[in-house]
Amino acid sequence: MKIAEVRTHLLEHRLSVPFQSASMRFDRRAHVLVEIICDNGLTGWGECLGPARPNAAVVAAYRNWLIGMDPLETEKIWAVLYNALRDQGQRGLTLTALSGIDIALWDIKGKHFGASVSTLLGGRFRDSVKAYATGSFKRDGVDRVEDNAKDIALYRSQGFHASKIKVGFGIEEDLRVIRAARDAAGSDMRLMADANHGYGVLEAVEFGRRAADYGLDWFEEPVVPEQLAAYREVRSKQPIPVAGGETWHSRWGMKEPIESRAIDIVQPDLAGVGGFTEAKRVADLAALHGVRVVPHVWGTAVHIAAALQFIAAMVPDPVRVNPIEPILEFDRTDNPFRQAVIQSPIEHENGVVAIPNAPGLGIEINRDALQEFKMKDEA
Ligand SMILES: [Mg+2]
Repeated sequence: MKIAEVRTHLLEHRLSVPFQSASMRFDRRAHVLVEIICDNGLTGWGECLGPARPNAAVVAAYRNWLIGMDPLETEKIWAVLYNALRDQGQRGLTLTALSGIDIALWDIKGKHFGASVSTLLGGRFRDSVKAYATGSFKRDGVDRVEDNAKDIALYRSQGFHASKIKVGFGIEEDLRVIRAARDAAGSDMRLMADANHGYGVLEAVEFGRRAADYGLDWFEEPVVPEQLAAYREVRSKQPIPVAGGETWHSRWGMKEPIESRAIDIVQPDLAGVGGFTEAKRVADLAALHGVRVVPHVWGTAVHIAAALQFIAAMVPDPVRVNPIEPILEFDRTDNPFRQAVIQSPIEHENGVVAIPNAPGLGIEINRDALQEFKMKDEA
């Protein structure tokens, strides 16, 4: 079996109500899927985290190395592609593009062997996972405090055990948001805060000290990802566990944050860190250092399906009668093509998501949706 073609599918939807995190404004949803076709007709799907067009351009740059290779040789392909752009690559788009390719190759490998990716990764420890709701962005023209509390009440009524709140807009307003969210959540629902690196160190430390009373499970991306000393300072000077990792790529990008304990929880993104091939190494590294792994998830159902396969195969650490179970990040923001791109939507039931066990990623692509949400060419 040989790789015969590599394609990308650019998808887009203009939002009626734009929203923002502390570091980014979204007036549309745009994502890119990777399709790899083999000479025997077998097809695999992947997705890249981050800007759609630049990712597609890098996937296209990798194409020449991929054509003619054996898609089952995932480790070899990873090494060849990484080396191809290594001198000017190492982080960022070269890795997010490689991630989409690697996910598609594992999808092919699963279909070829008639096994789910989680089985190929070493085995399924679980067939379902508790999801936590990610929403609570700042929406245009809406009072953040009320809007967030309303979201939390909704997620709670839908059965979610946990939800993550966007902060990093300013300490006083953020604390009002957290207070109202805790009131809406009650005492048993878990809450987390995500600053999307919108704070400086001093603000992050102050926020963490004052927000700790509201019972937050983690404080995500308190400061910019390049400043690991600042991460360590935030971790040592305020009581909330620190999480991060969605913008750290490859084992080399993860090495220092994990080994130097800049974080309590690492959040590798399957579509960013380097696909299944690299995420496995990062999880092993985290386990060596006692750092908890909670994958970051964003984008379409292809990305969610990849995260689910990875989560199914995550080894409980420690192995015990009642282990600490992984959880799934489940985006609740507006995106009409998130689930439309696959034939059977991945939904939660009472806050729990079943993990597909069909070969590969366990999903079937809906090509009509790829047409419907195809990105328009713009000047
Ligand atoms: Mg985040």
